[in-house]
Parts: sequence; structure tokens; C-alpha cells
Amino acid sequence: MLEFEFRPVFHLVLHVIVPLVVARLFWPAHWKRAALWMLAAWAIDLDHLLADPIYAPGRCSIGFHPLHTWPAIAVYAGLAVPKKTRWFGIGLLIHIVLDGIDCLLM
Ligand SMILES: [Zn+2]
Repeated sequence: MLEFEFRPVFHLVLHVIVPLVVARLFWPAHWKRAALWMLAAWAIDLDHLLADPIYAPGRCSIGFHPLHTWPAIAVYAGLAVPKKTRWFGIGLLIHIVLDGIDCLLM
């Protein structure tokens, strides 16, 4: 039972910890603002609301939810390039990578 519930919880924790760590490591002077932008990228999980059920522990979100498909990911990579949208873009890419790892662990 514990093992069954560990992965989703671990996944949620990573969604908070990784942006904070990346922000602190790469932008120590502006880490709070960088972290906020990267945490804001979590908003793409709103696309889960379109799915039924909203959350399924055994379902890989990459390629399933509209904001977790390859065309969307290409846009996120584009957002990571200009300085203005970089933090948000990187946050989106981190989110996708974490979701991808979760798929591999399933
Ligand atoms: Zn997601």
C-alpha cells in the first residue's frame, strides 16, 4: 500500500523542489523570482481537468493531455530562449521532464 502511494507523492514533491533547486543554483541573485515563474509553469496541469478521470495514477500524462504533447513541448522550448520568458519556459520543460520520469517509473 505504501509503495503504491509513494510515487505520486514523490512526483508532487519533485514538482516543488526541482524548480526551487534549479533557481537557487542558476540564478542565486534572483532565485525567488525565477522559482515563482518556474512554479507558475505547473499551471499546465490544468489540462488534466479536461480528462476523465482528472488524475489516474497509472496514466502517463506525456502525449495524453493537450499541454503535455510534443507540439506544446516545442513551444515551451521556444519560450526558454528569449530572456523575458526564459524562466517560464525552463519551468515548463522541467515539468515535462519530471512528468516523463514519472511515466518511466510506472
Ligand atoms: Zn504535468
